[in-house]
Amino acid sequence: MTSQQVDFNELQRLDSEHHLHPFTDTRELNAQGTRVIVRADGCYIWDAEGNKLLDGMAGLWCVNVGYGRKELADIASRQMQELPYYNSFFQCTTPPAIELSTVLADIAPAHINHVFFTGSGSESNDTVVRMVRRYWDLLGEPQKSVIISRKNAYHGSTMAGASLGGMKFMHEQGGLPLPGIVHIDQPYWFDEGGDLEPDEFGRRVAGQLEEKILELGLDRVAAFIAEPIQGAGGVIIAPESYWPEVQRICDKYGILLVVDEVICGFGRTGRWFGSDYYELKPDFMSIAKGLTSGYLPMGGVMVSDRVAETLISKGGELAHGFTYSGHPVTAAVALANVKILQDEKIVERVAQDTGPYLQQRWSELALHPLVGEARGIGFLGALELVEDKGARRRFKKMGKVGTLCRNASLDNGLVMRATGDTMIISPPLVATREHIDELVDKARRTLDQTLEGIPTIDFES
Ligand SMILES: *Cc1c(COP(=O)(O)O)cnc(C)c1O
Repeated sequence: MTSQQVDFNELQRLDSEHHLHPFTDTRELNAQGTRVIVRADGCYIWDAEGNKLLDGMAGLWCVNVGYGRKELADIASRQMQELPYYNSFFQCTTPPAIELSTVLADIAPAHINHVFFTGSGSESNDTVVRMVRRYWDLLGEPQKSVIISRKNAYHGSTMAGASLGGMKFMHEQGGLPLPGIVHIDQPYWFDEGGDLEPDEFGRRVAGQLEEKILELGLDRVAAFIAEPIQGAGGVIIAPESYWPEVQRICDKYGILLVVDEVICGFGRTGRWFGSDYYELKPDFMSIAKGLTSGYLPMGGVMVSDRVAETLISKGGELAHGFTYSGHPVTAAVALANVKILQDEKIVERVAQDTGPYLQQRWSELALHPLVGEARGIGFLGALELVEDKGARRRFKKMGKVGTLCRNASLDNGLVMRATGDTMIISPPLVATREHIDELVDKARRTLDQTLEGIPTIDFES
């Protein structure tokens, strides 16, 4: 046994003794053992056993500029030495927080010029709930407090984030959702569209927003929140008819549109924001993940002029904020991260070159007998694994084939994620055509092996 293996086994043992992991069945994890990731560079990560993996998920949808960016480490080091911390409370601020808010206002849609900083995507969506309700309060309509969201949405994991999200298995733990948060259907044509054409289905599920507003009464409805493309739910791309109809309904009734840009923001669709891609006019945009490319934790809520003017002009204190709101080190790193995206024209490259190339190569996987649909936009992709392609029929127990496929993928040196039987990718935005070829080749080999392995699955247990 080499000394490295000894270290690795010891690390695994300590991990199982002391470390509780997010979204994890700890008993199951301890039986299997953790994968200890020790280093990363560009689009690759290495585990403690020396395996090199192509990171098809950009960490957790966040490492947009790729790993190993020395300039981000240098900026953090310099800022830590100059001013490691100061808060934005009590009339104070710091240069990186000011510069970052200015740059974000510049890259956001024209009608968005303010940002409130948080530490994560979940905190951002919690902040949204407070600001939405504060807004209607200040306009003298405090009863306008209900926020409409969607089933199978993901908006984070704090109490408000998980409530806004539409994940049933999350609601079941802890008595969620919080009062005043309701859910309508998602625009998931592949699973829920039945015999309808995608556009007809898209119009119908968007129409549920209008029905829900009328059912609850417009005097009670404050806002609608959605991801431009549902990420954790399975990279769900709405039919083309969906978003224009949602925007029309929000405009017609004057309710606030909250766009959760935590995944789509910072270039993932080939535009700076998903709102740019779908030509939406949000009142709030939640941001995190790609804001710092995951190098440090940071989030924010971008606020439209309509809302900001009300919050500011009607006066009074917004009784909300975090110790780390506008943290100077994370802000400096976010600023440098945005500068990399700009200087290297990474968003443009995803729009014009690597994004279309990824989508072209990814769509070839639709020919595979196991794949019922291959879809994607920009640097997001999903594969629906099915028992019967023509009928869009799922395997009888969800998640079994997805898990087999995910494990095969890791064995092939590719990180893909499975949600149920949907395989998803979200690679670093710096992936080249060569990386994309490697990703698709490994995915295809993985699908072949998964198909071969299906007879060994026990669907009854
Ligand atoms: C990841 C995610 C969040 C939560 O962000 P955290 O930083 O994990 O709190 C919220 N919304 C969306 C769309 C996400 O993908």
